[in-house]
Amino acid sequence: MKMKKILLMLTAVCLLLALPCSQALAEKPAAIELPPLPDVDITSWEFLYAGPHLGVGRYHPHVGNVENQYMDERCAEATIDFLNAAREQGFEVYMCTAYRNWEYTTFWYEEEMRKYGEFDDEYCHFLPGASYEAAKHGFAAGCSEHSTGLAFDITDESIYWADMNYSNVHDETVADTPVCKWMDKHCAEYGFIVRYPESKKEVYGMACYPGHYRYVGKEAAQYIMDNDLCLEEFLALYGKTIRGVNYVNEYVVKAQ
Ligand SMILES: [Zn+2]
Repeated sequence: MKMKKILLMLTAVCLLLALPCSQALAEKPAAIELPPLPDVDITSWEFLYAGPHLGVGRYHPHVGNVENQYMDERCAEATIDFLNAAREQGFEVYMCTAYRNWEYTTFWYEEEMRKYGEFDDEYCHFLPGASYEAAKHGFAAGCSEHSTGLAFDITDESIYWADMNYSNVHDETVADTPVCKWMDKHCAEYGFIVRYPESKKEVYGMACYPGHYRYVGKEAAQYIMDNDLCLEEFLALYGKTIRGVNYVNEYVVKAQ
């Protein structure tokens, strides 16, 4: 009898708790009022866009050497400063990917298409009826942000050398490493943003890649990070559309 009473009480409590929750879920979140936009030139090189819907083609920036990888020379120093700042905190950060040119991304795109069974090795072309799954994940040549020379990926060096397999260590687990958490928090100080925040997957339209940082300059980076935006939303606030699509989140209100 006692047990029954307890169960009944528990059910009542659960119902009371669940009701406001489900109601809240059904309601749209309140619009976010943003502070005035930074005075930046959205057509400048820092805002060059690459994504599954729009590539940079055979764009080849002038690059500078950063730890035997390459970055657009205009943000090479900022990259070095950012990496060194993480090291000063005691982290063993390893830059595992930076600039990737057209030829390289073409190679990887074909590799990805092979995985999806959509690439004909004998004749080197995409099979008829291919759904271009790889393209949707940002692997199409020139559509990777690494083609801009403004992005790089990190991992924890101790994990990297222990594993000796880049593809095994640069995955979503990097998000849980202290180095990634520190870099997410401090990237804007060096002009970088967390390019693929987990919560904005639907806006940027591809898989989330933690540990991937993208240069946009300090002012824009601070604004993007402070207001929990992703690059698509930021560009849309300036009226920039990507292949005719305005990626501004309907709950983000442009400050007047
Ligand atoms: Zn990356």
